[in-house]
Amino acid sequence: MKPYLAAFISFSLIVMTTLSNTTSAQTRRQAVDLLVLGGTIVTMDQTRRVIEDGGIAVSGGRIIAVGPRAEIEGRYSSRQRFNATGKVITPGLINGHTHIPMVLFRGLADDLDLQEWLTKYIFPAEAKNVTEEFVRVGTRLGLAEMIRGGTTTYCDMYYFEDAIADETAKAGVRGVLGETIIDFPVADNKTNAEGMAYVEKFVARWKGHDLIVAAIAPHAPYTVSEEHLKAVRAFSDRTGAPIVTHISETKRELDDSIKAKGASPVAYLDRIGFLNSRVIAAHMVWPQGSDIAILKSRGVGVVHNPQSNMKLASGVAPVPKMLTEKILVGLGTDGAASNNDLNMWEEMDTVAKLHKVFSGDPKVISAQEAFELATIRGAEALHLEKEIGSLETGKRADLLVIDRDTLNQIPLYNVYSDLVYATKASDVESVIINGRIVMRNRRLLTLNETTIKADARAFRDKIIKSLTTSASP
Ligand SMILES: [Zn+2]
Repeated sequence: MKPYLAAFISFSLIVMTTLSNTTSAQTRRQAVDLLVLGGTIVTMDQTRRVIEDGGIAVSGGRIIAVGPRAEIEGRYSSRQRFNATGKVITPGLINGHTHIPMVLFRGLADDLDLQEWLTKYIFPAEAKNVTEEFVRVGTRLGLAEMIRGGTTTYCDMYYFEDAIADETAKAGVRGVLGETIIDFPVADNKTNAEGMAYVEKFVARWKGHDLIVAAIAPHAPYTVSEEHLKAVRAFSDRTGAPIVTHISETKRELDDSIKAKGASPVAYLDRIGFLNSRVIAAHMVWPQGSDIAILKSRGVGVVHNPQSNMKLASGVAPVPKMLTEKILVGLGTDGAASNNDLNMWEEMDTVAKLHKVFSGDPKVISAQEAFELATIRGAEALHLEKEIGSLETGKRADLLVIDRDTLNQIPLYNVYSDLVYATKASDVESVIINGRIVMRNRRLLTLNETTIKADARAFRDKIIKSLTTSASP
């Protein structure tokens, strides 16, 4: 054989072998919708695995695999690849308690206690201003703020909740959304019968939706009668809808309950058969006696709102004790009128520091525990821990890519310490919810920020006018 011919044959063999290797590698690798590759993955799984140079494969809105980058790249291929090298990847944050359209009342009345704030300012402002349009505009503003701050799931209670669900689904955000039931006429429903009919349709409409869990939200045991609370529980038993409510927020609520019902709010609700593992209870600042044992035995989810409780001087919820007793505890902002933002990074920082100073023990809530409250424990409090709260195979693909190159995060020693005490909402770079990218490199992809700001500012003028008119009859 002539040398050049031998060289040609061996070259052809190499090309063919390479081609066939590539083809077999491609056929071996499973095609998925999205690959997130590189970076430090904070999984929040059972062993709290943190993977350096990790990878996540996403398909059909769910996480198909999480592991070292090389392993994920070897097993999966995708046209959509997200390079997260040098970043931190975490589960999306869970805001366990909001009244999202109340962002339009942000800063309207501050520095008051709950009773004065509610009765003199918030209830009158709501009576004059809350319409479906108000709710939609406020919801879009709140959604944009939450996406920018890395919140991928929120639990809400307000009026026109069907419109809130509609805006939330359009923005691609996950929500447990509760239509308010309260014993006085409100913007969307004038009677309890109207409220219950609304909820019936609302829950049926969103059944089985990928993002929206429609819920029923009796405002509180002091604003909803025993008869109506029992009807709420019966509705929830029949439909499976979660029950979102406020329980034991202030000392006054506790004292009034003992006076009127001879029991704390928790004991009273248990006595009438209201509590179960579909209940999500915001606040729980004043549990008494056997209340914590009741919450545990009924499987009630509790949402702690440290900044709102501090601002309204409602008190300090016994969160360390609830954690020791293995109560399902999550974290929330409450409405922006009592906070005044929807920023879960601030809430994590506050929860750790508030309980340290209150107990005199700096070890009482660690940075990792604070991060758990906003992720996996938050999911447990919403009874959604099988679906969200950690980055694990089979769960919904709700995740954040966090910039690690901002001044406030340099250098990095401990990832939880960094996330809880140093990371800011503005460090969130990209957000993926149910496998869909809703913010990429700080650009919102599902909402128009310019329009949202203009619409919200227009409402400010209307609200001021409505309150001035009422002040001078
Ligand atoms: Zn609230």
